[in-house]
Amino acid sequence: MTISWYRAATLPRRVAVLSVHTSPLEQPGTGDAGGMNVYITQTAVEMARRGVSVEVFTRATSSDQPPIAELAPGVLVRHIPAGPFEPLERGELPAQLCAFTSGVLRTEAFHEPGYYDLIHSHYWLSGQVGWLARDRWGVPLVHTAHTWAKVKNAALADGDSPEPRTRVIGEEQVVAEADRLVVNTDVEASQLIDLYDADPDAVSTVSPGVDLERFRPGSRERARDVFGLPRDAVVLAFAGRIQPLKAPDVLLRAAAELLHRDPTLRERLVVLVAGGPSGTGLEQPQALKELADTLGIADLTRFLPPQAGDALVDVYRAADVVAVPSYNESFGLVALEAQACGTPVVAAEVGGLPVAVNHGLSGLLVPSHRAQDWAGALEEVALNPGRHAELSRGALSHASRFAWQRSTDALLDAYAEATSAFQQAALGVAV
Ligand code: UDP
Repeated sequence: MTISWYRAATLPRRVAVLSVHTSPLEQPGTGDAGGMNVYITQTAVEMARRGVSVEVFTRATSSDQPPIAELAPGVLVRHIPAGPFEPLERGELPAQLCAFTSGVLRTEAFHEPGYYDLIHSHYWLSGQVGWLARDRWGVPLVHTAHTWAKVKNAALADGDSPEPRTRVIGEEQVVAEADRLVVNTDVEASQLIDLYDADPDAVSTVSPGVDLERFRPGSRERARDVFGLPRDAVVLAFAGRIQPLKAPDVLLRAAAELLHRDPTLRERLVVLVAGGPSGTGLEQPQALKELADTLGIADLTRFLPPQAGDALVDVYRAADVVAVPSYNESFGLVALEAQACGTPVVAAEVGGLPVAVNHGLSGLLVPSHRAQDWAGALEEVALNPGRHAELSRGALSHASRFAWQRSTDALLDAYAEATSAFQQAALGVAV
């Protein structure tokens, strides 16, 4: 690994990564585990490869968890007891932040002063912890929110519950306290500045990435065999957490509309849904299956539990198109992963998805959530072999621009900026 002289000179030795509500050791695609877990894991591994030690602090959710686990060489996960050894709902976590913070501070106190050079908090709950640790340790706080309550609440699915006011207030506090805010796209940077009054000079845009060694094109036939799907099927796939915000129902409705337009498609159409309930989706875990029934497509809809490793790669390879119909998405890693496997994506034109998908070249963006519009886009991509081949090539080329190595380099630049701003502010205070 070659590192530029400038970057090598500014690399932190050890970073404390805070991830209170979910662990990078959890399987993404259900509950609280999703793109943030993948982001933390991938950037931590890349940092460790560059000689930066990473320690991830997360809440212990089982008494079987060891206090410290190695995620990868140079990357430790510290399980901090805070509340019962069991999963807690997101709304119960603010009450455990004091216990969690105490665990983080005690861990640091076992070491020589200056053990951690920088804190990187993920999601607002961790930002609350990072803000206090920053003041105690005298090191910069970098914060990545992954999602923002005000942005989410402005784009709710029909009937979905809004994020609570406590979260909005907590986010505003973290925005005011962090030394640097890392966002996924320039759109998110504008939202942060407009909705949270963030200082534009304190915001860094860092594109998330995709593991290009793992997510690669491969035999579609073999992938279909893995799931027992007919080789000549038309496969529309969804992968991710099942909740109204992610709108897998839009894919199901669009599939029903496709059958309405061409009933002969029923012999070949398969809708593959991989993932488990999450967020407000936990209130009605059977809702999507019931919808498939109501739409008369239960026989051609296949529900898979969250898929790990190569099985997820096979989902993407088996699909003619991967749908990302979310009402909001700060980026959408699934879109990149599918494209890296050579599968075009049809995505909602919201949040970061216009960056993750190159409209017309690597997939299509749909400006609404109407079944008719989605059916039209899916038809164009999945039922037109010439167009499919063209978009598949575009998908590969688009995804190849988003390696985690690049994201990590940009993140380390943001760390360097945070450190320099922090040191200047400290000098200013000293004068
Ligand atoms: N994922 C997975 N197995 C599944 C479905 C999803 O491992 O069955 C992972 C997927 O690889 C992706 C993450 O979950 O990296 C979802 O990230 P995304 O940014 O698409 O959505 P988020 O969960 O952050 O809202």
